[in-house]
Amino acid sequence: MVQKVLLVEDEFAIRQMLLFVLQDAGFEVIQAENTQEAMVCISENSIDLLILDWMLPGISGVELCSRLKKEAEYKHIPIIMLTAKAEEDDKIQGLNAGADDYLTKPFSPRELIARINAVLRRVSSNKVTEEVLEYDGLVLNEKSHRVSSNQKPVNVGPIEFKLLHFFMSHPERVFSRTQLLDNVWGNDVYVEERTVDVHIRRLRKALEADGHDHMVQTVRGSGYRFSPISL
Ligand code: CA
Repeated sequence: MVQKVLLVEDEFAIRQMLLFVLQDAGFEVIQAENTQEAMVCISENSIDLLILDWMLPGISGVELCSRLKKEAEYKHIPIIMLTAKAEEDDKIQGLNAGADDYLTKPFSPRELIARINAVLRRVSSNKVTEEVLEYDGLVLNEKSHRVSSNQKPVNVGPIEFKLLHFFMSHPERVFSRTQLLDNVWGNDVYVEERTVDVHIRRLRKALEADGHDHMVQTVRGSGYRFSPISL
């Protein structure tokens, strides 16, 4: 199946170059010059990946990125941000806005395609099709809202259930507290980042009895990760 990439870049020459590179790699490409145009393209097409320039006239790329990641309908679309900025702060701002990856101009066509393929692979491997998630004896049933650890039922609160569900759907990925708040609590809820730590502690406590608490791992300076592999 041909994958559809939406390319949002205001500079004609760069857009043309990227268009050529992407088409050459076998992608179907839709182009937009600004965020308004991009929104129309997104609502009218089923987009597999978004390549988004940071600096755009009007609403910036990073702003569009964070808006899309808040929309239930669009948050699954992977986004690669393009930027001329190489500063660490901007990179963090981009990733906090929900970008899946980040490329600093100038970059080589090969690097772009490699990043795209990596992001697409990650997204497809994260896609949840089953209603039951299982790692090493830890089982979460989405439909019945039940969790069991080595066949013994585990009592978890509603937030801990959502948290564990999100983790088990995205194993081996580090999420910042902000990302967890957005994905588990939702964007309209205002809660402090510390709240995440409280619920992580409760979740670990619930998983402790059968030794599955080690799967909820703290990544120093970054956030949390779910991993079946012991540290
Ligand atoms: Ca630009």
